[in-house]
Amino acid sequence: MSFNQLNLSIEIMRAITDQGYTEPTPIQIQAIPLILDGKDIMGGAQTGTGKTAGFTLPMLHRLQPHASNSASPAKHPIRALILVPTRELAAQVLESVKIYSKYLPLKCTVVYGGVHMDPQIKDLRAGVDILVATPGRLLDHIQQKTINLSKVEILVLDEADRMLDMGFLPDIKHILSLMPEQRQSLMFSATFSEEIKKLADTLLRKPVLIEVTRSNSITELVTHSVYLIQKDYKRNLLTHIIKSQNLRQVLVFVRTKYGANQLARQLERDDITATAIHGDKSQPQRTQALAEFKLGSVCVLVATDVAARGIDIEDLPHVINFELPNTPEDYIHRIGRTGRAGTKGEAISLVCDEEKELLTDIEKLLKITLPVKTITGFESNITSILVKPKNSFNESGQRKKIRSEQDKQPKVPQDQLFSQPYKFSPSLSDNKKLMPISNAPILSSAVKKHFIHEQHKKTLPALFLPLSDNKREQKK
Ligand code: AMP
Repeated sequence: MSFNQLNLSIEIMRAITDQGYTEPTPIQIQAIPLILDGKDIMGGAQTGTGKTAGFTLPMLHRLQPHASNSASPAKHPIRALILVPTRELAAQVLESVKIYSKYLPLKCTVVYGGVHMDPQIKDLRAGVDILVATPGRLLDHIQQKTINLSKVEILVLDEADRMLDMGFLPDIKHILSLMPEQRQSLMFSATFSEEIKKLADTLLRKPVLIEVTRSNSITELVTHSVYLIQKDYKRNLLTHIIKSQNLRQVLVFVRTKYGANQLARQLERDDITATAIHGDKSQPQRTQALAEFKLGSVCVLVATDVAARGIDIEDLPHVINFELPNTPEDYIHRIGRTGRAGTKGEAISLVCDEEKELLTDIEKLLKITLPVKTITGFESNITSILVKPKNSFNESGQRKKIRSEQDKQPKVPQDQLFSQPYKFSPSLSDNKKLMPISNAPILSSAVKKHFIHEQHKKTLPALFLPLSDNKREQKK
């Protein structure tokens, strides 16, 4: 299928062509016609599938009649609101909206916490057609009366499961109460818990369920390898891998903010340019770190799971798990940073003795055994007594007893995002073949019954949700 068949406006098509997209991704093939048709959508889509364009392109098309070159703020009320869980994702979604709307006089901006409100207020006062926001900061603006949602026609809730994980439900409900009931609502979630279904019930009217059929083998696009290594020697092995393989752009995952800073500093000492990104960094620092990494001026971005959410870098070739994540789903989310949009990637994990169980859990979830590799000088018999590497880089010359980072830090909010690299399947290029969702494993049959499909439309009952604590978006 080509983009021409989707009946998007000339201006939007020009922007798509500029991006070099030749054909729509499966989620786009499904979502775009339905959204153009004014339907509410429940989307089972993960990052890396092209879902941002999947909802943004038809949204722009629907808003195009309102597009105005007038400088008057009155001509630019907020008509579309895109709610996302994290600042990084917010910034990236805004970037996408800007790219796809570049030939349209529609104004867009973003509001998220961790930065001053004043520049955001200035932008909002000038008039905004499309607003990307995190829930907490959006409510701050609403309280200050710098945002009015009474003209919203389209609402997008992106990564809804993560928003619930992060405790945003009360905020979301509050925000919903401030919007016109007559609107189109689009909700995207990688997982479908009872909570998500309840939220969908309150949010969506006769939603159509769409989803991307999962690529059945993540190894087709991403090569996995595991190196068993003593904890004290992980840094030396990391340096060795980066230098010996001449890696130029590596996203390295650690479990804690402290660990991220420490590792970035150590890599710098090893003459590898590195920067850390985590929740304790200010937003400008995070933005700068990401920009430097994208531009290639730093080779390694050391990230925690939460901070890395939403990072979208085209062709990111290498992800290294310096420490395995606490939950196996996070492994999939981490490696979802590579092998995106059909490109190949490599996921390397440095696994020490105490992480063996985590590795087993990951393998169970993936239903594959991750290949274990060795590098001369770094062999380690992890199943028995750990063998010291031949090249001892231990500065003190002693084996230090290091308390697990996991013990020191509270567990990060569980990320259930089941991120998969997008792999276009030619067999999915026919729209009719895409609508049946029976072979998509992320949705149980109970979930499928819960939503309506094109074929059989049932009204969803409205449910009321219990109030829970509002944890807000800060402090990750
Ligand atoms: P997303 O799932 O929205 O995070 O998108 C993942 C990546 O896919 C982004 O880098 C997009 O630029 C890219 N992308 C989106 N749509 C297409 C398409 N039709 N063809 C190729 N790449 C795409």
